[in-house]
Amino acid sequence: MTVLRLHNTLTRKKEDFVPIDPDHVRVYACGPTVYGRIHVGNARPIVVFDVLVRLLRLRHSKVTYVRNITDVDDKINVRASERGIQIDELCAETIETFHQDTARLGALAPDIEPRATHHIAEMQAMITTLIEKGHAYEADGHVLFQVSTMDHYGALSKRSMDDMIAGARVEVAPYKREPADFILWKPSSDDQPGWDSPWGRGRPGWHIECSAMAKTYLGEVFDIHAGGLDLIFPHHENEIAQSCCAHDQLKMAHYWLHNGFVTMNDEKMSKSLGNIISVTDAADQYRGETLRAALLSAHYRAPLDLSDSAMRDARNGLDRLYRAVGDIVFDADKIDAGFTDCLLDDLNTPAAIARLHELARLANKGDTSAAIALKASASVLGLLQQDAESWAKAGDAATDVATADGMDDAAIDALIEARKQARANRDFAKADEIRDQLTDAGIILEDSADGTVWRRR
Ligand SMILES: [Zn+2]
Repeated sequence: MTVLRLHNTLTRKKEDFVPIDPDHVRVYACGPTVYGRIHVGNARPIVVFDVLVRLLRLRHSKVTYVRNITDVDDKINVRASERGIQIDELCAETIETFHQDTARLGALAPDIEPRATHHIAEMQAMITTLIEKGHAYEADGHVLFQVSTMDHYGALSKRSMDDMIAGARVEVAPYKREPADFILWKPSSDDQPGWDSPWGRGRPGWHIECSAMAKTYLGEVFDIHAGGLDLIFPHHENEIAQSCCAHDQLKMAHYWLHNGFVTMNDEKMSKSLGNIISVTDAADQYRGETLRAALLSAHYRAPLDLSDSAMRDARNGLDRLYRAVGDIVFDADKIDAGFTDCLLDDLNTPAAIARLHELARLANKGDTSAAIALKASASVLGLLQQDAESWAKAGDAATDVATADGMDDAAIDALIEARKQARANRDFAKADEIRDQLTDAGIILEDSADGTVWRRR
């Protein structure tokens, strides 16, 4: 079996993936802070690491994939008060829309989706251990991690202490021994969520949440920790500091994977530019599978520009693949070896998609085994699993003339039937007129011995 190679942020190199236990691979990815809808930039790690987990499942008998939900955070408190609703209500609503969005993107649910607020006891236990071991201290109702007590702090981000202080825009607070020290626990006022603790009523810092949940479900040291590039510092650096110091381990995870940024038409998404597109809004324009294919069209570590043309290319590519795969049966054992090799090379999804198009060319020449391999292989990317006819007829609002004209399936079927009647009556002028009407509405007709099928352009 060809070995899986992954780019490890710890070493900045592509390495052979050697699991701690080949019969049980353990993966953790940082999940959303649930105060609002996820945007298309947040969708990238969800889709990319979903492909990673699907690939690992082909090769290992057991994979545990944990993706947490951060449901205690000051951004949540602020948003709830802005909207005049309870924090619980905001979290429940946001988790529901998050699940709808991940389903639209075709991402399988993680095996475990722990919520931070359900693991406060584990966080407090880890903080207590860090204090006992001399890595953390209590000051003024806060507990802070003392960065200078850890020898290899900064090993993931490869930053000097000065860079890190500048990068984190570290708040200089009177209760801190050193500016880079970060919060493990902080006091809550009466109107803020809080839990009783040895340090008074308060709430956890963000970083300790992931360390505690990862330890609970995956153990002290596990295989892969994943997330967006923006999490390397300070979040992942601080997770490593907490977990390694609490558990007396040199590593928290053996491989650290980070996906690149997403831009929209070459602009970084930002609040000030007003170009942050939520997955829910994008789904009004494009089907989830189109968005998924676009998100996989670049290598996960490269920047990805979700331009209108990238979305159109993704849509057209799927159209071609669906036409080639038709109604062929699904056989999970028939995954193409060349396709798998692309993914084994640090999840090279653009190469894998190119291989799908080669299979499609063979399938179009009548090679049935290529069509079967196409359907099986595409399943590893979470693509082409719909019925090809439904795919052809559904369309994406943003690219479909037909949807803009409001022509629904029934209207199209009625016109096709009228055209058939006209041809039967040898009224070819009428038949051509109907065909032109459909073409203008963005409907493409394909006549064959079995009758006429249509799809949206
Ligand atoms: Zn995290």
